[in-house]
Amino acid sequence: MLVFQDYGVDAHRAIKHMTSQRQVVVVGGGNAALCAAISAAEQGGRVTLFERAPEELSGGNSRFTAGAMRVVYDGVADLQRLMPDLTDAEIARTDFGSYSAEQFYDDLGRVTSYRTDPALAETLVNESYPTLCWMQTEGVRFLPLYGRQSYEVDGKVRFWGGLTVEAWGGGPGLVESLTKIAIERGVTIRYGVRARELITGQGQVTGVKTSSREGDDTFHADAVILACGGFESSTTWRTRYLGPGWDLARVRGTRFNTGDGLEMAMAIGAAPRGHWSGCHAVAWDLNAPEYGDLDVGDNFQKHSYPLGILVNNRGERFLDEGADFRNFTYARYGSEILRQPNQAAWQIFDARVADMLRDEYRIRQVTRVQADSIAELADKLEDVDGERLQATITEYNAAVMTDVAFDPSVKDGRGTRGLTVPKSNWANQLVEPPFTAFGVTCGITFTFGGLHVDAAARVLDQTGDPISGLYAAGELVGGLFYFNYPGGSGLTSGSVFGRIAGRNAVIS
Ligand SMILES: Cc1cc2nc3c(=O)[nH]c(=O)nc-3n(C[C@H](O)[C@H](O)[C@H](O)COP(=O)(O)OP(=O)(O)OC[C@H]3O[C@@H](n4cnc5c(N)ncnc54)[C@H](O)[C@@H]3O)c2cc1C
Repeated sequence: MLVFQDYGVDAHRAIKHMTSQRQVVVVGGGNAALCAAISAAEQGGRVTLFERAPEELSGGNSRFTAGAMRVVYDGVADLQRLMPDLTDAEIARTDFGSYSAEQFYDDLGRVTSYRTDPALAETLVNESYPTLCWMQTEGVRFLPLYGRQSYEVDGKVRFWGGLTVEAWGGGPGLVESLTKIAIERGVTIRYGVRARELITGQGQVTGVKTSSREGDDTFHADAVILACGGFESSTTWRTRYLGPGWDLARVRGTRFNTGDGLEMAMAIGAAPRGHWSGCHAVAWDLNAPEYGDLDVGDNFQKHSYPLGILVNNRGERFLDEGADFRNFTYARYGSEILRQPNQAAWQIFDARVADMLRDEYRIRQVTRVQADSIAELADKLEDVDGERLQATITEYNAAVMTDVAFDPSVKDGRGTRGLTVPKSNWANQLVEPPFTAFGVTCGITFTFGGLHVDAAARVLDQTGDPISGLYAAGELVGGLFYFNYPGGSGLTSGSVFGRIAGRNAVIS
């Protein structure tokens, strides 16, 4: 017998609601998938989410993050809407600045060599603030990203690089709160279930085939949202698309993003899009494991290189450590390290900046060598050409513009003069012992190549037409990022397009 009182409406309307409730399948278990699931449920869809990972390893790369999210805001009033817990004392001691839509759009354009898809970029930028407000209303808490994105200058804490907001509890906190909200909204979450194939009929996607420990299954749906990541965790796909050497990169996050969503969609005619030979990759501890470790999270990364120098095993500098704010260089410097002998490099600092190094330099699992002189350091770094290293540091010290003031909160122009490989900002001589070197290799974060998706999160076929019933969000959206990436855009992109995909999967 049907019970209608839950609907609070008459029986006729209740039957109509039940029969018209659209069945939506979401593939993936990270930020993009959970935002899509919540959004679809909010619109009245009946939502089932398949996460390939078992529950204890669920949450994808999103769970490994710091939860930093790039968002447009016009001063502190906009931030207060996102972070009602912001105290008067915090507001008084902090210069939050602002981050306009133009700045976000410019940053996206500049770092991607103006290849970013204008429609996708515009949607990401314009929807960033409304989407974070929506998340906040749903129950996600945000905080200022003090620890990683601000410096105290002249008694005032100043944010830099356009990145100001993090989710409470970082990536694990974000995934936990989104999961809770999804469950409260009635989403069914099935862990340990891998989507394998899209089912089609009469010109549209009608469901997915899955596999799990219990066996293979078929699940029918009115719409499927793919939010199951890129192909960074597949050694063979990395080598095939990114090129030789990428089999040797460490994976920073989940082991489960092996290109399934891309493969499934392209098998039914979806068009690939974007920078398939490009990826986000960073300086990552030399001895980090093959895949991410949830206990360490993102702390294998070593992001304070703008405060020191980076040398390879030949003892030579090979990139401009101060070319731009860290947010705009770190995602491409992993590839530079991969190209060095033994895919290795050393970040070197002196005692004067030791206190400014990020917390990730103080974890137990760190590859660190310390010495009281440059000669001793050169001797201790066994794989490095010590004589060349000493010469490199002597040349570098002599080239630093000591007449320009050092200010880490702005691009201070305190660079080097006359070096073949310049350092453009934040150049300090390495003179005060102890000297510390941190060993790094290349850690891949996610791949840039994806599916052709429009601003409504619909997956398009080779002729540019939408594939009926198929949507995508998150890492597997192609066309947004090329060569590089503005830090904190990945989560925002997943939330923005996840929310849009969820809504459109139900109402269109
Ligand atoms: C260490 C680290 C730190 C980072 N820090 C930040 C940060 O602070 N800010 C930021 O914006 N970005 C950050 N990023 C990038 C960010 O993680 C990604 O851009 C974002 O999380 C992608 O979200 P997503 O939901 O698309 O993918 P994911 O979160 O990776 O989720 C993909 C999900 O799909 C599941 N899956 C895969 N295949 C299948 C299948 N066949 N069937 C079912 N499920 C499947 C996976 O198990 C996984 O749960 C970081 C990444 C890493 C690795």
